Amino acid sequence: MYPVAHIDLTAIEHNFLRVRALAPNSQIMAVIKANAYGHGAVEAAKALSGSDAFAVARLTEAVQLRQAGISQPIVLLEGVHSIDELQAASTHNLSLVFHTSLQLDLLKSIDLPSQLSFCWLMMETGMHRLGFAEREMDNALSFLQENHNITGQIGIMSHFANSDEYGDERNTAQLERITSFSQAHDLPISLANSAAILSYPDSHKQWLRPGLMLYGISPFDDKNSAELGLRSVMRLCSQIIAIKELEQGDQVGYGGTWVAPDKVRIAIVDIGYGDGYSRQLSNQGSVLINGNICPVVGRVSMDMIAVDITSMDTVTVHNEVVLWGDGLLTAEMVAQKVNTIAYELVCQLNGRVRREYHYGES
Ligand SMILES: *Cc1c(COP(=O)(O)O)cnc(C)c1O
Repeated sequence: MYPVAHIDLTAIEHNFLRVRALAPNSQIMAVIKANAYGHGAVEAAKALSGSDAFAVARLTEAVQLRQAGISQPIVLLEGVHSIDELQAASTHNLSLVFHTSLQLDLLKSIDLPSQLSFCWLMMETGMHRLGFAEREMDNALSFLQENHNITGQIGIMSHFANSDEYGDERNTAQLERITSFSQAHDLPISLANSAAILSYPDSHKQWLRPGLMLYGISPFDDKNSAELGLRSVMRLCSQIIAIKELEQGDQVGYGGTWVAPDKVRIAIVDIGYGDGYSRQLSNQGSVLINGNICPVVGRVSMDMIAVDITSMDTVTVHNEVVLWGDGLLTAEMVAQKVNTIAYELVCQLNGRVRREYHYGES
């Protein structure tokens, strides 16, 4: 049944071992938020069973993993936002990131059912998204170290804003800020995401947070995943459900934004924005049919797209179509066409797309 995203669990394991090889002295917190970037959080967690911990953004994501029997430490990258969430985090034995004094306040008036361990203090080092300013860090750290709801060592976390830019001095500045604070307190650091793991060894420190690279996608514009030693994990496929012969001047799809320049043949493919296939790809995207690139013509509809197959003779209804995940058409290539990032394309795929799991390529 189509559409289907084939997920190669062996490739996830391979990419995880690539992280280990790049940073053998660091521990790994595999980032499986947003349904493991659309790949399926529980299945990804199982394939990543060698990971020292997992990270997700929100409580609901962590609870889903616990309910599926995932027992490693799970870090909530955004922490909790209410007493109820704090209590649930304790019940499910989750590890919290603290990034604002509001989250510290939640700890003041409560006795949690069980203490929180393996917690992180988020430091603002240059991204200006989450974290305590340098001048607030000492107080926040002492508060956590003294609070009876928290046990064990606190780590210091921050996040790069420009790690996909090699050698950018803003990365050095962020690394220096977190290092000087952490060294003064002799605490572990977690800073490096995929791009930093791949291109900035000095930033590896004690705990890595790879996301994108585990799914075999390159974070860089100028290097593909194969050049980075990564294996692509997702192959998104659907099928042709109708073929039409058009005359010159016939329009295609809503708004008639594409008009046949000549006699053409188009195939209607069973995927649309209702599956998470971006409507930005209208008249911009392309697909792969029997190893040939075919352009998307007209607007992406909710359930379907049209592609030009004029140059192909042997294509028939039910022929399989690859939307991305082939060396000739990677998610990165599709993303570049519409000025977005492959992160967004894979995360957008919704529950209407069946995931099929394989060990090895399907
Ligand atoms: C999503 C996220 C990551 C993973 O980043 P990648 O670029 O996908 O490797 C790491 N840390 C934080 C805080 C994140 O939000």
